[in-house]
Amino acid sequence: MVKQQVESAVNGKIRCDACPVMCYISDGKSGACDRYANIGGDLVRVDPLTILENSLSDGGKVVAFLPEGGKPDWDGDIVHANATFVTAVGAGTTYPDYKPAPFIVSQKQNGIDMVTVVTEGIFSYCGAKVKIDTDRFIGPETAAVRVDGEPVGHVTTGEYGSQMLSLGGVHHLTGGSKKEGRVTCDTLMRLCNRERVEMVVDGGATLLLQAGCPPVINGVEESRMRVGCGSATIGMFAKQWKNMVDEVVVVDDHITGVLSEHQAGKLLDVQPTGIKIKGRRSTPGRYFQVAEPGTGWGGTNISDPLAILGDFDAKVAYPGLRLLMVSTTGDQYGYYILDENLQPVLQTILPAAIQETVDVVAENCEPAMVSVLFMGGAGGSLRAGVTTNPVRLTRSVRDALAYVSCGGAPAYVWPGGGITVMADVMQMPSNSFGYVPTPALVAPIEFTMRLEDYRTLGGHMEAVIPIEEAVELAERRIAPLVPGAWPMAERNFKWGTGG
Ligand code: SF4
Repeated sequence: MVKQQVESAVNGKIRCDACPVMCYISDGKSGACDRYANIGGDLVRVDPLTILENSLSDGGKVVAFLPEGGKPDWDGDIVHANATFVTAVGAGTTYPDYKPAPFIVSQKQNGIDMVTVVTEGIFSYCGAKVKIDTDRFIGPETAAVRVDGEPVGHVTTGEYGSQMLSLGGVHHLTGGSKKEGRVTCDTLMRLCNRERVEMVVDGGATLLLQAGCPPVINGVEESRMRVGCGSATIGMFAKQWKNMVDEVVVVDDHITGVLSEHQAGKLLDVQPTGIKIKGRRSTPGRYFQVAEPGTGWGGTNISDPLAILGDFDAKVAYPGLRLLMVSTTGDQYGYYILDENLQPVLQTILPAAIQETVDVVAENCEPAMVSVLFMGGAGGSLRAGVTTNPVRLTRSVRDALAYVSCGGAPAYVWPGGGITVMADVMQMPSNSFGYVPTPALVAPIEFTMRLEDYRTLGGHMEAVIPIEEAVELAERRIAPLVPGAWPMAERNFKWGTGG
């Protein structure tokens, strides 16, 4: 565990100055955030400093954290120091920010002197973007998302096959009530640490969300992500359906597709069937707004697909016409035959070939998942822990001279001002996130660059230590979670190959 410098002590209590709360901590106790403790008079960061080891033998999988009293499966040999990366997980924080970041480590990579600046950033303004693979209606766009009754974010624009949430951010963390800030911070931390969180959307669904797991919507676990919209599904499977049935309707909240009217059906010579869809026709065979959004067929609110059909045109339709109705995931389907009155009659026995095509629709769907992207801005103060001239760090990142990672995971840097990053929490070491009660989320962030570039941007050269010193403190060693990604790889930099 990493020991921090103790600046002051009163009556045996030592002061933690890693965040603005400035806890006084007695021996054997931890501070308000549980991240620091007083162990025999030492101020200690209680989570293990985590390093990545890029050894092939790890096979790219996570090496389990050493059990208590367990023997390390790593013998301390740093011969492979070039393939070791110190993450910010467990590294600690500095506050206020004129102090250098907790670890600024140097090492050679392919003969080049590199440096990595490592810190657990305190993000008073940060959030998470959550992608929920489902067509089901989870709530109106912009509706508040609540945890324990507190608004922690909102439903944002639906995307292809997924509903999206925007959680956290400055207004919920610091702009609302004390409780709202605390609950928001806790929600973000648990979600980013891949824990399961229950939330309720105003006017919408109850959600149980956990990164990397299927979403649970109103108590029902989602299994499949749709193969495409109704129109795309028609296009994909038109050939299979052409000789099997006379008409296919793919029911979808976004675009409901109709085989005989669709361009795919036209090109395959599928004859008109006189079908009538209640909805707004966009282009031939493609209908919008066939029903309200919901948790029924294809993300609509209907449980009987016939509700979207008008009367068949008696001049075109005929008794015996075979109609397949299916949703975009293949979860719902029905096979109908028109009777003498041109009314579709549900068939209890599904011909094997039709069952097979429905199964193919389902088979082409990917597993429904919840994805959580942490999003935060490395503000001027965090950057000051890296360099005495913070804007130069921003420029170095823009110029691809400095590479940003979060717990060793690649971070996407947004265009525009500042260093606003997004990282997939599934690619970060477990328990990467913490909190401080200000409230703010604590997240690991690392900046890697050439030592000479670090000097040029006004880096804290006096604080640079050789990697061996940091590695000695590391208690948790894991393999990179993203195969092939390595923060120090030359291709990450403008000067490197492929840069
Ligand atoms: S809340 Fe945590 S980081 Fe902040 S001063 Fe207290 S122990 Fe230190």
